[in-house]
Amino acid sequence: MDIRENLEQVQKEIVSAALDAGRNPKDVRLIAVSKTKPLSMVEEAADCGMMDFGENRPQELAEKQAQRPDLRWHQIGQLQKNKVRHIIDKVALIHSVDSLSLAEEIEKRAGVIDKIQDILIQVNISGEESKSGVKPEEAAELCRAISTLSHIRIRGLMTISVQGMSDEENFALFSRLRELAQEIDALKLDGVSMQELSMGMTHDFLPAIRAGATMIRVGSGIFGVREYL
Ligand SMILES: *Cc1c(COP(=O)(O)O)cnc(C)c1O
Repeated sequence: MDIRENLEQVQKEIVSAALDAGRNPKDVRLIAVSKTKPLSMVEEAADCGMMDFGENRPQELAEKQAQRPDLRWHQIGQLQKNKVRHIIDKVALIHSVDSLSLAEEIEKRAGVIDKIQDILIQVNISGEESKSGVKPEEAAELCRAISTLSHIRIRGLMTISVQGMSDEENFALFSRLRELAQEIDALKLDGVSMQELSMGMTHDFLPAIRAGATMIRVGSGIFGVREYL
C-alpha cells in the first residue's frame, strides 16, 4: 500500500473534477478517513502534508488524537450521546449530528470546557431506511432548534450516499443536499452557516465535487481496503 502514491492520485482527481466543474480545487478539502488503520498510516499521510483525518469510533479518534494533537480530527460516524465527552476536547468537526438530543449533549459538554463546537447536520438525503441522518424535510427545523445553543456552530450539511448507484444518480442526490443547504442558508439563523458540504467517499467523490462538495471523506482510496467496518 503506497499511501503517497494513492494521495497523489486522489489529489489529481480532485483537481481535475473541480476544474471540470468550474470550481477552485482549493475549495475541496480532502479528509483522510483513517478508521481501523494504525497510527503509522496516519503518520505517513501526515508526512505527505495531510492535515485532516476522519474517524467513526470516538474511542479511536481519542487515542489517535492524543498521539497527534497537531492534526485536525473529524468525527464522521454515528455518535452516541454517552461518547461525546470522550472527544469534545479533541474533535475539530463533528459531521454526524442528526438529533436535537445529541446536539444538547454536545452543548453541555462544550460548555464545560468553554468551547464552541463546529458541527455539520447529517441528512439522510437518499431516504434509505438503514442510513442515519435527519430527513431532508426536517433538517431546517433541526437547524433552527440547534441555533439556540450557544456552544455550537453549524457549519453545513453532510450526507452519505448509497452504494451501487451510478455517478449520475449520486450527482442528483448530492445536488439535492446542496439545494437544501441553500434553503437553510436563506433562513439566516443565528450561528448557522451553510459553507460546508461534506459529501463523497472513495467511490463517489467525483460526482460530489461536481455537485459542490467542500469536504470529501476518502478512506480506502488512500489507505486500502478495510478488513472490517
Ligand atoms: C468509512 C467512511 C468513509 C470512507 O469510506 P471509503 O469508501 O473507504 O472512502 C466516509 N464517510 C463515512 C461516514 C465513513 O463512515
